[in-house]
Amino acid sequence: MPQILKNAREQLLSISQQLNCLGLNRGTSGNVSVRASGEAGLPGFLITPSGMAVEKMTPTDMVWMDFAGNAEGGRQPSSEWRFHLDILQHKPEANAVIHTHSMFATTLSTLRLDIPAFHYMIALAGGDSIRCAPYALFGSQQLSDKALLALQDRKACLLANHGMIAIGETLEKALNITQEVETLCEQYLCALQVGKPFILSQQEMLEVQEKFKGYGAWKNSAKVKSNS
Ligand code: 13P
Ligand code: ZN
Repeated sequence: MPQILKNAREQLLSISQQLNCLGLNRGTSGNVSVRASGEAGLPGFLITPSGMAVEKMTPTDMVWMDFAGNAEGGRQPSSEWRFHLDILQHKPEANAVIHTHSMFATTLSTLRLDIPAFHYMIALAGGDSIRCAPYALFGSQQLSDKALLALQDRKACLLANHGMIAIGETLEKALNITQEVETLCEQYLCALQVGKPFILSQQEMLEVQEKFKGYGAWKNSAKVKSNS
């Protein structure tokens, strides 16, 4: 097996284990995928197996799929392979997809509400809201179609009465988005207990998005002022 594919299998397992350690997934809930060419160099992706507890998974349990929906390996791919496939196919900027049933995102998804810009960190998901995709049966093509729409110009969405999806350029970046979205869902739920949170304006959110462009980047002393 090419080394690069072997590494991708190990990374997929490591992220799945981290999701459990962080309490973002439990039991067999949730799934993860990463873009990876197959042994013959065909474009495709690796995805976690269906219905398997993370503690039992090994790198060889990860299933490779092509973009026609064919799976290779001894295990069944995650029942959500359709939305993983569609996201990776339609969003070339994304190389990793994480799906969780994490506590706060899932609780909020049962209210079927988009999350407005109640906090500036909403911009991290790519816009001034995090959408909630309408309900559809788990594993269905309808769910995938609805998720893809909710993810338009976004790096995350909720799935009604189900959970959340986060995407990223890498598995680590997708994990970071997952954690941030879960935190935002917790904060929004807390605020809703007490009253009606103030929502940032479109202009305020545009300013945040602009400022995020240089956030965490290497300091270039010629360009960055200490009060920026
Ligand atoms: P799988 O075990 O098939 O990945 O299903 C878990 C899940 O979250 C379904 O939505
Ligand atoms: Zn699910």
